[in-house]
Amino acid sequence: MRIVVKVGTSTLAHPTGHLNIRHMESLCKVLSDIKNAGNEVILVSSGAIGMGMGKLSLRERPSTLPGKQAAAAVGQCELMYTYDKLFSEYNHIIAQILLTGSDVKDPVRRNNFVGTMEHLLHMAVLPIINENDTVVTDEIVIGDNDTLGAIVATSVKADLLILLSDIDGLFTDDPRIVPDARLIPEIREITPEILAHAGGKGSAIGTGGMATKLKAAEIVMAEGCDMIIANGKDPLILYDILDGEAIGTRFIGRKEN
Ligand code: GLU
Repeated sequence: MRIVVKVGTSTLAHPTGHLNIRHMESLCKVLSDIKNAGNEVILVSSGAIGMGMGKLSLRERPSTLPGKQAAAAVGQCELMYTYDKLFSEYNHIIAQILLTGSDVKDPVRRNNFVGTMEHLLHMAVLPIINENDTVVTDEIVIGDNDTLGAIVATSVKADLLILLSDIDGLFTDDPRIVPDARLIPEIREITPEILAHAGGKGSAIGTGGMATKLKAAEIVMAEGCDMIIANGKDPLILYDILDGEAIGTRFIGRKEN
């Protein structure tokens, strides 16, 4: 299987912005093992801005564009340094790819990206992708890594996109506010009713929320790719997903008859 796994800042870093060592170690170990089992793995990783905040001892997410870009420039190094160290322990080679909206909108550049990805996967490299936060401006921003994950998954014709988040899946209501909110296990179509279940933004240091996840689902489902939203607090959950267990919310890609 060709699998794209997207991890949010809340999985990789503590609310302080400092590395969540336990989560990152477990994530890299499980992804290495999934790769060893013969799957192709692509990681879409957030965390550049969050970790830049931690490293620069910033108490809040920067509000200005240069502030965010500077934090991302610092944090992206920390992120890749950590991934390289952890994946090397399991003998896996990683590659960094940073994209902007213009790279994926322009057909020539998108094609180049896909060509590079195919080559990396052919060489058994594990590509790690993030938005190029240091250079993006409003005009060329993708904006969130759920959408980026969907663009990557459809570009490389992945079989499955997994969004690891700080929530178990899509609920009928916000479970942080409504205690009897129910998890929706499977979705075949994004209806206005489903969209109404998506609240606003997620955590204080990340970007996404349910709305961006549903947008990602729409993108991949249209191309026949499945997507799962699951809780990334224990990356061992990836084994259960690949074993076919009903985990989180699964969005079923449209299959041609
Ligand atoms: N690209 C951003 C970062 O690495 C995160 C975007 C997102 O979390 O959706 O900090």
